[in-house]
Amino acid sequence: MVLELKTHMVKEWRGYKSRPFLISGPCSAETEEQVMATATQLAQIKEVCVFRAGIWKPRTRPNTFEGVGSEGLKWLRKVKLETGLMVGTEVANEKHVYEALKYGIDMLWIGARTSVNPFTVQEISDALNGVDVMVLVKNPINPDLELWIGAIERIARAGITRLGAIHRGFSTYEKTVYRNQPNWQLPIELRRRIPDLPIICDPSHISGSREYLYEISQKAMDLNFDGLMLESHIDPDKALSDAAQQLTPNDLKELLSRLVLRSPVASDPRLLDILGELREQIDVFDDTLIDILEKRMKVAETIGRYKKENNITILQTTRWDEIIKKVMISGQAKGLSKEVIDTIFKAIHQESINHQMKVMNNGIVNHVNVKK
Ligand code: PEP
Ligand code: MN
Repeated sequence: MVLELKTHMVKEWRGYKSRPFLISGPCSAETEEQVMATATQLAQIKEVCVFRAGIWKPRTRPNTFEGVGSEGLKWLRKVKLETGLMVGTEVANEKHVYEALKYGIDMLWIGARTSVNPFTVQEISDALNGVDVMVLVKNPINPDLELWIGAIERIARAGITRLGAIHRGFSTYEKTVYRNQPNWQLPIELRRRIPDLPIICDPSHISGSREYLYEISQKAMDLNFDGLMLESHIDPDKALSDAAQQLTPNDLKELLSRLVLRSPVASDPRLLDILGELREQIDVFDDTLIDILEKRMKVAETIGRYKKENNITILQTTRWDEIIKKVMISGQAKGLSKEVIDTIFKAIHQESINHQMKVMNNGIVNHVNVKK
C-alpha cells in the first residue's frame, strides 16, 4: 500500500539549494566559540543548507556529556543571524519542542532512541500541532519499518508539511565495521511506501568513523536519496561526543567535491532504448523465475502427498542440509554471494514446506517458520 501524506518535496522547502540537501554541524553544541567557529566555516561551503547541533544529548551512559541544554539555543540563534544558515536540533520531548521553537530553530529532528517510542512521538506531535517548522524523523534503532512509518504519520498528523526521514542505520548485536548497519532495503522500502517523502542519509551515525563517510554518502546519492546529514566539528578529535565520526569543515568540503551525482532519469533517447531493452530482458528472467518456482512448488506438493500416505514428517533436516550445501557451491561458482543464496533458498524452502503442509492438512495452510 502506498501512503500519501500532505507533505512537500524537498525541492519546495525554504532554503533548498540542490541535491544533496545538506545538513551539517557538530554532534553537540559545546561552547559558543566552537559553535560559531564551526558554523562560520560551514557557511563558506555552498552546499550546506542547515547547521545542526545537538543541545540535549541522548547518551548511552550517565555522567558523560549530556549536552549544554537551552543555553546552546542562543548560540544557534546567533548562527542563524550571523551566517544566514538555517539551524536544527534534536528534540526528545515536548519541552524540547517548546524551547527550540522559542529560539526560532528552523528544523527539528526526532532521534533514533525517541522514534522507537510511540508515546513520546505522540507527545512531540501534539506539541507541534499547527506549527510551521521542518521536522525529520530518524529511523528507530531497531530495523522496524512500520515503527518508522508510524512515527512519520504521527508527525504528519500535526500538520507538518516539510517533513522527511533520516536514515541513520540500525543497531545490531554483532560487531560490524559500521557503528550501525545500513540495511539499505528499509529506506528503499520506505521510498516505495511513501514515494514523495524526502529521505536524508546520515552517514556519520551509520559509519561511526571518518573512514566510511564517503562510501556511504556516495551510496545514498546513487540510491537517489534527497540529502545528507554529516557531522562536522572545528576540532573533531576534541569533540565531547562522537569524536571519531566528525569531519573538519575542510574535510567535508573535500568529501563533497568527490561525490558523483548521477541523474535518476535518463534523457538521451539512445540510452533510453538500451535501458528499455535490458529491462525487457530482466522482465523475461523474472517471469522465468516465477514459472520455475511454480514448478518447484508442484513437485513439493507431490512429495507432500507421498509423505502423507506414508506417514513421514515434512521436515527432513539431512535433505535440507544437502540442498543448501549443493546450492552454496554452485551459486558461489556463478558469482552469487553466500548471503543471497542463503536468503533465497531459506525462503524457497519455507514456501515448499507451506505447500507440503497444505497438502498434508487437506488444504488448511498452517504456516510454519523454519529457522535454520
Ligand atoms: C545525533 O544526530 O547526534 C544523534 C544522537 O543521532 P541518533 O539519534 O541517530 O543516534
Ligand atoms: Mn552524534
